[in-house]
Amino acid sequence: MDIKILLVEDEPSIRDMLAMLLEQVGFIVQGVPDVQMAERCLKDNAPSIILLDWMLPGISGVEWCRRLKRDKSYSDIPVILVSARSEEEDKVRGLDVGADDYICKPFSPKELVARIRAVLRRSAAPENTERIEQKGIVLSLDEHRLKIDDTVVALSPTEYRLLEFFMTHPDKVYSRGQLLDHVWGRSTYIEERTVDVHIRRLRKILARFQREELVQTVRGFGYRFSLQGE
Ligand code: CA
Repeated sequence: MDIKILLVEDEPSIRDMLAMLLEQVGFIVQGVPDVQMAERCLKDNAPSIILLDWMLPGISGVEWCRRLKRDKSYSDIPVILVSARSEEEDKVRGLDVGADDYICKPFSPKELVARIRAVLRRSAAPENTERIEQKGIVLSLDEHRLKIDDTVVALSPTEYRLLEFFMTHPDKVYSRGQLLDHVWGRSTYIEERTVDVHIRRLRKILARFQREELVQTVRGFGYRFSLQGE
């Protein structure tokens, strides 16, 4: 299968050099100088991977990466952030915005190709999360099915996604806005109150099995799925 790389780099000489190098090892490369052009490419033809320069004119690479990873239509495309900054803090920030890997300039061609292959391998591997189980609550991700204490429980797609998000991100507090971003996606406009409605429904379902305390309200901030108890 052809591997298409979307290369976003504003420096023409670096872009050409990288494109040549990557084409030599058999990748198909589309090189663009900025995020605007990259977005156009993304809509035309989804790449297998994005090689993204951190510092770009206009929207920076790190900012675009953050946006992509919040957008359900694109969040699955692996991103390698390329930076001239080798500070640990930058690396952490890069991975924090959802980049799948981070590589520092200058790097050897060999290292770059190895990183790309590793990230592609990781993203192609079936995820080890076909099933999530916590406190007797079992989500089968492939079937979109919920079981609590071995009883199959019906729930709407939204409650399912909400529960799936909570179970894969336990013990962390999320504001209503953040839950909207993660569970509903950025593109839809929904009032924050909607989150409360679905939380209430989810709690009602969990209450049938005495698990409603898992979904906790954090006053003044939002909600948390807690495995520790209040
Ligand atoms: Ca640059």
